[in-house]
Amino acid sequence: MAYKEAQYFLQKDDYVQCLLCPHRCHINSGKKGLCGVRENKDGVLYSTIYGEVSSMAMDPIEKKPLYHFYPGTEIFSIGTKGCNLRCPFCQNWSISQDLSARTYYKAPEEIVSMAITADSIGIAYTYSEPTIWFEFVKDCSKLAREKKLKNVLVTNGFINPDPLVEMTEFIDAMNIDLKCFNEKTYKNVLKGDLEPVKESIKIAYEKGCFLEITTLIVTGLNDNMGELMAIAEFIASIDKRIPWHISRYYPSYKYDKSATDVNFITEVWESGLKILDYVFTGNVHPFYSRSDTVCPSCHGVVITRKGYHTVIKELEEGRCALCGYDLGIIT
Ligand code: SF4
Repeated sequence: MAYKEAQYFLQKDDYVQCLLCPHRCHINSGKKGLCGVRENKDGVLYSTIYGEVSSMAMDPIEKKPLYHFYPGTEIFSIGTKGCNLRCPFCQNWSISQDLSARTYYKAPEEIVSMAITADSIGIAYTYSEPTIWFEFVKDCSKLAREKKLKNVLVTNGFINPDPLVEMTEFIDAMNIDLKCFNEKTYKNVLKGDLEPVKESIKIAYEKGCFLEITTLIVTGLNDNMGELMAIAEFIASIDKRIPWHISRYYPSYKYDKSATDVNFITEVWESGLKILDYVFTGNVHPFYSRSDTVCPSCHGVVITRKGYHTVIKELEEGRCALCGYDLGIIT
């Protein structure tokens, strides 16, 4: 296991306090924080997963999902293990919640070299929660940027402002999960907090990071129109051009309620488009899929998507080729 001294912590008389995420864990010597991957060794906090990679693959960037950041390209994607939330329906629980998941050590230089060899546009830190991999993501991203690669973070957004602001210096794009809009659900079910996630979304945007938001619509958790439209209103209050991905939940991990009603997802898509410029469905049968990018001004179809097959039709330097409207798409 690769240990690296953590960057954000305070030393107290008989414990350390981790300052990376809003849990702000007090950790006694020989113990780990809630995420299970930060350990107090003799009064110093260490990341226990530096360079520890559980999964890697070349993925369509649409799979992150990012629909308006270099659409139609592929990105070298890596993940570690562990998470600072406890979503009972986690769709990636075998690496995010099972700390015995097998990992392999890779140095930042190896990761960057693999991305270049694979002709990737960059590196995506994804699959489990990358913010708790802070030290490795930072070293890897800085090196990647020197080599003109892009860095993408797929995150739950449950991170403190200072480390997040630092991350925006080397991360080009983020997809942040906004899992629900109910403080009690965030606290009692997901074991996090809503406000810090909202704050992260605002910070990422204000710092100029390209941003998309994902909400997994989970049966019995957040599948009510009022709450979901409150999410859409919140995103619109920042910028109505931020793409919102609404994804279908399937039973997973400790949660066995039936998969989300697809007709409801279509209704959310329709209602969301009255508030936001771009709403996309995910994890649904192609018949129900609403994943094309349509120009909000002239309603021309700019990008079509069938599964992960993306065709760029009417896009010129981020603008609609039909009417010239600035779509906010990075190419
Ligand atoms: S990153 Fe881990 S150790 Fe640090 S505060 Fe969050 S849960 Fe606790």
